[in-house]
Amino acid sequence: MEKYRAHNWHCFSHIDQRQPYAIIYTSLGCPYNCSYCNIHALYNGKPGIRFRSPEKVAEEVDFLVKNYKIRNLKIIDELFALREDRVMHICDLIIQGGYDLNMWAYARVDAVSEPMLKKMKQAGINWLCYGFESASDIVRRGVCKKTRQDVIKRAIEVTQAARIHILANFIFGLPDDDLETMQETLDMAKELNFEYVNFYTAMAYPGSQLYQDAIEQGVRLPEQWYGYGQLAEETLPLPTKYLSAAEVLRFRDNAFKEYFSNPKYREMVRLKFGPEVVAHIEEMLKYEIRRKFI
Ligand code: SF4
Repeated sequence: MEKYRAHNWHCFSHIDQRQPYAIIYTSLGCPYNCSYCNIHALYNGKPGIRFRSPEKVAEEVDFLVKNYKIRNLKIIDELFALREDRVMHICDLIIQGGYDLNMWAYARVDAVSEPMLKKMKQAGINWLCYGFESASDIVRRGVCKKTRQDVIKRAIEVTQAARIHILANFIFGLPDDDLETMQETLDMAKELNFEYVNFYTAMAYPGSQLYQDAIEQGVRLPEQWYGYGQLAEETLPLPTKYLSAAEVLRFRDNAFKEYFSNPKYREMVRLKFGPEVVAHIEEMLKYEIRRKFI
């Protein structure tokens, strides 16, 4: 247990205390079916979700706090914020424990509600991760992610109103992406100025629909598992209808630097988390990722 350490952003409020750290599952699987995702490969290949009982989850949280002095906790469910009654029940049990937790979880913009978010914050969920994926409706629809712009906007507003930080996930290089739509996505991220972003490239993960499509179309895929690693030197993302894999990768790496160098972002981080976190981000940007295919 002493070897595990939280993500840097998870601990922006206490950047020097990323340990001890633990993760818990409260459910397995996901009822949705995004074509870039291979989660269903683990569970009979079909969309679906199985829930653990809230009492069992609360027992496990109690065990982690009492035995390992856990404060930083990741709820690793593919989609924790799904059924409001269940989320409220789990949060109520955690609140009753009286812990001082710093948790985060995955959510979908079309599944969160104001009461749910308020309760999550009370329980110690300080961060929610949303998969926005792209600013373009066409690009999102192309991978079966049919969330509407107004729903996205509303979810961001209510999450911020509940004082929960947002970790925003975006994917560059989805099948309908061109340079213009990828730029729209980067502009959206910069405009909304999230506390942290993950910029991924679209990858044909085995078990996903994109993998099937790539095989049928004879697209070049990684020859080794590490070629699917987002930060690996050998990473080989998918080309789009309009761009090569190298163009997508180059755009992603530049976007990452641009986002975290943005003065507006740095200032927001300084005000919310302090100058030591700005220094931490500057340090992070010194690491150059080597890329074989650029
Ligand atoms: S990307 Fe998220 S919402 Fe979509 S299928 Fe995978 S786990 Fe479910």
